[in-house]
Amino acid sequence: MPYSPRVGDPLATLDTPSMIVDLDLMDSNISTLMSRLLPTGVSIRPHLKTTKSALLAQRLVAAGAKGGCVAKLSEAEVMCAKGFTDVLITCEIVGKPKVARLVELWKTNREVKIVIDSEVCAKGISDAIAESGSTADEKIAVLIDLDVGLHRTGVQPGAPALELARCIAMLPHLRLIGVQGYEGHLQHVHSFEERKAACLESMRTLVSTADALRKDGHEISVVTTGGTGTAEFCASVHGVTEVQPGSFLFMDTDYRAAIGGTYSNSLTILSTVLSTQGPRIVTIDAGLKSLTTDSGLAECKAPGYEYGVLGDEHGSLEWKDGGEGKPLKVGDRVEMVPSHIDPTINLHDVYYAYRKGVIEEIWSVDSRGKVQ
Ligand code: PLP
Ligand code: MN
Repeated sequence: MPYSPRVGDPLATLDTPSMIVDLDLMDSNISTLMSRLLPTGVSIRPHLKTTKSALLAQRLVAAGAKGGCVAKLSEAEVMCAKGFTDVLITCEIVGKPKVARLVELWKTNREVKIVIDSEVCAKGISDAIAESGSTADEKIAVLIDLDVGLHRTGVQPGAPALELARCIAMLPHLRLIGVQGYEGHLQHVHSFEERKAACLESMRTLVSTADALRKDGHEISVVTTGGTGTAEFCASVHGVTEVQPGSFLFMDTDYRAAIGGTYSNSLTILSTVLSTQGPRIVTIDAGLKSLTTDSGLAECKAPGYEYGVLGDEHGSLEWKDGGEGKPLKVGDRVEMVPSHIDPTINLHDVYYAYRKGVIEEIWSVDSRGKVQ
């Protein structure tokens, strides 16, 4: 029989490296987020750049979320094809090939929403909709992307934001519905008080810009922001209507170090010891192609071991004298906790979700590799 893991199989029968999810922990992360945020009245639009899964997007909606965010147009294409259509694309769509694809997607799915931070971007999209033979009343919903301190994308607050809103209002095929201001630079600030104070400052910029746009005659009904590290602060601010957390579902070591244990690390990479390389060091089958390193090195779930990268396909696990780590031998299996969850998931085809050591569900990483 060819190798083909199935629901009902014990986790012990899975080949490695495999991406595995503890369903009890994931479910508890979802209920923690929902119980903390839903009572504030804010909408939850989870960022699907983390899970890249339409099924998990639907599950979050069933738990109380309203729609989802995607980073890229190609992710939106996948989600819409899978029937998950209420998506906000949170990166600017610039350049003829991408704009043409956006118009094509929008023709069949009017729920797609986009962000804009320049006149070039705005005109490119409105012109392409006009060229596609649309009638005057056909308008795509857009949000102004505002720089609230991240300095990644976003128009500056004040006069530049107002000018852009006026430009959007003049263009025949755009309908301004709101403002996005993502404070990504604050998500991993370790001090709770510093993270909160800086976030509230960014929210003042966001909410006051939304008010200034309204005073200028624009209808601003969506004010969207926030990630796993800040969503609760954002949700406490009058005028914020929507938050976009993503990583909370699975977490990673970087987020755990920054925000503590509100959410649990529910996703690990199951790995096998391939070789012994000394009295206290072994080699496992998870390297750069299984675990990312941009936010530091992954950690072994069992305490007492230190991970090291040994290239594309291999990593080392070393245990310290007198430490908690027990000697590992060839054939042993370990679970590695990713340091940065989103790009790690993007390295894998499937999730194996388990409860009490048995595979309960198998999900595909639908928009894996969709970077355009
Ligand atoms: N919103 C935007 C625009 C993002 O770029 C991100 C992540 O980078 C998020 C929300 C979600 O953040 P997190 O995964 O940290 O919860
Ligand atoms: Mn991330």
